Amino acid sequence: MSRHTPRIVMKFGGTSVADLDRIRAVAEKVRKQVEAGCEVAVVVSAMSGVTNQLVGYCQSLSPLHDAREYDAVVATGEQVTSGLLAIALQTIGVEARSWLGWQIPLRTDAAHGKARIGSIDGDALVERMQAGQVPIIAGFQGVAPDGRITTLGRGGSDTSAVAIAAAIGADRCDIYTDVDGIYTTDPRIVARARKLDKITYEEMLELASVGAKVLQTRSVELAMKERVRVQVLSSFVDGPAPSEGNLPGSLVVDEDEIVEKELVAGIAYSRDEAKLSVRRIPDRPGIAAAIFGPLTAANVNVDMIVQSTGADGLTNMTFTTSRTDLARAIQSLEASRDVIQYGELVTDDDVVKISVVGIGMRSHAGVANLMFRTLSDRNINIQVISTSEIKVSVLIAAEYAELAVRALHTAYGLDAA
Ligand code: ADP
Ligand code: ASP
Ligand code: MG
Repeated sequence: MSRHTPRIVMKFGGTSVADLDRIRAVAEKVRKQVEAGCEVAVVVSAMSGVTNQLVGYCQSLSPLHDAREYDAVVATGEQVTSGLLAIALQTIGVEARSWLGWQIPLRTDAAHGKARIGSIDGDALVERMQAGQVPIIAGFQGVAPDGRITTLGRGGSDTSAVAIAAAIGADRCDIYTDVDGIYTTDPRIVARARKLDKITYEEMLELASVGAKVLQTRSVELAMKERVRVQVLSSFVDGPAPSEGNLPGSLVVDEDEIVEKELVAGIAYSRDEAKLSVRRIPDRPGIAAAIFGPLTAANVNVDMIVQSTGADGLTNMTFTTSRTDLARAIQSLEASRDVIQYGELVTDDDVVKISVVGIGMRSHAGVANLMFRTLSDRNINIQVISTSEIKVSVLIAAEYAELAVRALHTAYGLDAA
């Protein structure tokens, strides 16, 4: 016999639980979903601003703080909201209780600050849900093999929600946030951004990984792997509880569920970029390994890379990292200066990466060229380029970020009518 009480995970981000009035409004949304006849599990973020404040406390005490204690501190934001929402629900007659990561347990590896989820035991949650109780799960947190608290990286409650949805076999994972869906680009930057009814896992994964923060990259990765249906929708719009016939947000789906395939699905930007140029290096085999080996050892993630040949048998290597890795990258390169034998090291963190993403690129040439032409028409200089099967990224001066995103949005025909 097939089960058919629909089972839904509802995740609420920071702005959705920013104060007590919003928590009351969230409780009402949960009640509606329960009254629509669904089994519901809820995942909550910390109240907006709280995680930043907690991270700031750790950094002020010591920039090189113990990552295990960082996790003990920053995981508290979600503990507060899970308890508060449980109280708000009980107050309006909905049976609910809070769950912390270790109580489920949601097991992770020991990579404190950016832990990966290993396994989740969904049995206890399912049992409670079937008995009519709503579990309110603290997002962003788990428990390491040694029993200490871990967190999943910024934006990690999205990943908690998708992982819980997979563990309890949910029919859908609804991600409630401060915009009403996934757009062709950040609707806060481009007023003409268009809401997408559907987007493929692959495109959303690529968009998230190049800066569209509406979903954490790992949450999309996991949804794709576990085939979790994900909907992004607004927590500020009133309306009936969503149901299969009535999904007001944007759905992340398989490619074959999309009827009208566009060349480009969306455009993203990332300000978290820094450029390093190692100049006047003797051009000999092994030079890339001499530069990037020590960077890898120093835990610096390198993204875009270009090597250009200069005069007199010398070469230049230019690459990008995240801004937070810049200081460590400089330290590593200076430490290996004798081995690399470079002339100078020049860095710039006043840059932004703009990316155009679409599975249509697989079968259509000219997507990259349109990007280059559009930027050139606006006199925007491209500093570094990188491409993948379904993405083209360029690095440009930060001051042109909005101009570039808007111009590209129009050039690819994405503007809302
Ligand atoms: P939450 O606190 O609910 O997790 P986030 O701030 O992490 O919310 O993510 C929502 C934000 O993502 C939106 O306010 C929007 O500015 C931004 N965003 C960036 N790119 C997109 C996009 N393509 N579609 C929708 N929102 C986007
Ligand atoms: N509160 C955490 C953060 O701000 C996790 C989340 O909201 O997804 O990164
Ligand atoms: Mg988020």
